[in-house]
Amino acid sequence: MSIQNEYLRGLMERVIARNPAEPEFHQAVREVLTSLSPVVDAHPEYIKEGVMDCLVEPERTIKFRVPWEDDKGNIHVNRGFRVQFSSAIGPYKGGLRFHPSVYEGIIKFLGFEQIFKNSLTGLPIGGGKGGSDFDPKGKSDAEVMRFCQSFMTELFKYIGPDTDVPAGDIGVGGREIGYLFGQYKRLRNEFTGVLTGKGLTYGGSLARTEATGYGLCYFADNMLKEAGKSFEGATVVISGSGNVAIYACEKATQFGAKVVAMSDSGGYIYDKNGIDLACIKQLKEVERKRISAYADTHPQAEYHPGCAGIWTIPCHIALPCATQNELNEDAAKALIQNDCFAVAEGANMPCTPEAVDALQGAGLLFAPAKAANAGGVATSALEMSQNSMRFYWSFEEVDAHLHRIMTDLYHNAAAAAAQYGKPGDLVAGANIAGFLKVADSMLAYGVV
Ligand code: NDP
Repeated sequence: MSIQNEYLRGLMERVIARNPAEPEFHQAVREVLTSLSPVVDAHPEYIKEGVMDCLVEPERTIKFRVPWEDDKGNIHVNRGFRVQFSSAIGPYKGGLRFHPSVYEGIIKFLGFEQIFKNSLTGLPIGGGKGGSDFDPKGKSDAEVMRFCQSFMTELFKYIGPDTDVPAGDIGVGGREIGYLFGQYKRLRNEFTGVLTGKGLTYGGSLARTEATGYGLCYFADNMLKEAGKSFEGATVVISGSGNVAIYACEKATQFGAKVVAMSDSGGYIYDKNGIDLACIKQLKEVERKRISAYADTHPQAEYHPGCAGIWTIPCHIALPCATQNELNEDAAKALIQNDCFAVAEGANMPCTPEAVDALQGAGLLFAPAKAANAGGVATSALEMSQNSMRFYWSFEEVDAHLHRIMTDLYHNAAAAAAQYGKPGDLVAGANIAGFLKVADSMLAYGVV
């Protein structure tokens, strides 16, 4: 698929020239500009008024040194980032990722995606993302704490409950959010909802932990129903075994599916009897062990080193929930060959563009990340609402909001796709529906 509109083609060339060596950012921008060609054809004012040029340039990028001391007294220096991409419809909102692969291009791709995702939730939140090349794996709690405190000692100057509200992402879970929030509170001498994904004893929302995985299944359920299909009786493969993967597995199972495989960055397990999720939770959430340990207690399960093979397991529904570009064209062909009928992205940009083309070309139902995994940030926004009200909602109330948001989101994306001549194409629909609200707000502000 290519960018049809000539101005947007030129803009894409400028994005590549101005942001060299950032292929993930280029990939994310190219996909959006491809979808938006029919929109700017119909509404040239978005080009004339500079909306398109502004959209691909972050409002602010913060890059900083994060020195910290390990348990042996050695000093390490990591890099910290916060990309405040767009505040057109609300305070910057988006997670922090701690992973050795993090560099500015990864944070920019994630921040750019976040603009449209947050708009799609229907809630008043802008787009941002941050993180560090720090690897929490193998570090003691004390080392993670010292790193988080050092990270926040710089970041706190740029965030706030009405300015920028970070959350978790890969490598940033409840433990890290606790250390980050504690340091913010100490530095600012105030107790405000500046981070989401907080613990339940200090301002967190019920159902936030479950929200991205549950939301993914709510979105997919709507998409499947529209096509006369369902999770009931389906075989499901899920990559990853982190926050998104675990709760996608839980909800898919509640919907009557059998999840037969999950993975981590070392390899995958295949359990033909259905994954024992209690064991995965114990290994990953409590003991922080490798997924290979699952086979030690489940003799019927097979462990395979390496991640790519997981997509060769026959399944009806595939939920990539680990990381970007983890499902390539070969993987897509294997899924098609095995009569898979739906792919819903839990991770951000897990399918390569070639894989998306192959899946959509073969007629599979395809749910793009910015729509399908928006339940996490939507529930973060609900956490912000509860913090502002100094009140909390029950699990059932938050879950009901999440369910309604994901259902509305599906219908809005489907309607936008149909309106711009791409019925059934949720990639185009999500990009267009997410864009329009942001772009119209930018038009209202004039040149700022
Ligand atoms: P976690 O850190 O909880 O889990 C990530 C999982 O993916 C782990 O199983 C990890 O394995 C695996 N993984 C990470 N990097 C790689 C890699 N390079 N190759 C193979 N496997 C890898 O993160 P989350 O579950 O929170 O996030 C997963 C994805 O979902 C990310 O793309 C994130 O941006 C996206 N997302 C998360 C949201 C949330 O609310 N948490 C919201 C919206 C999107 P290992 O432990 O071995 O590293």
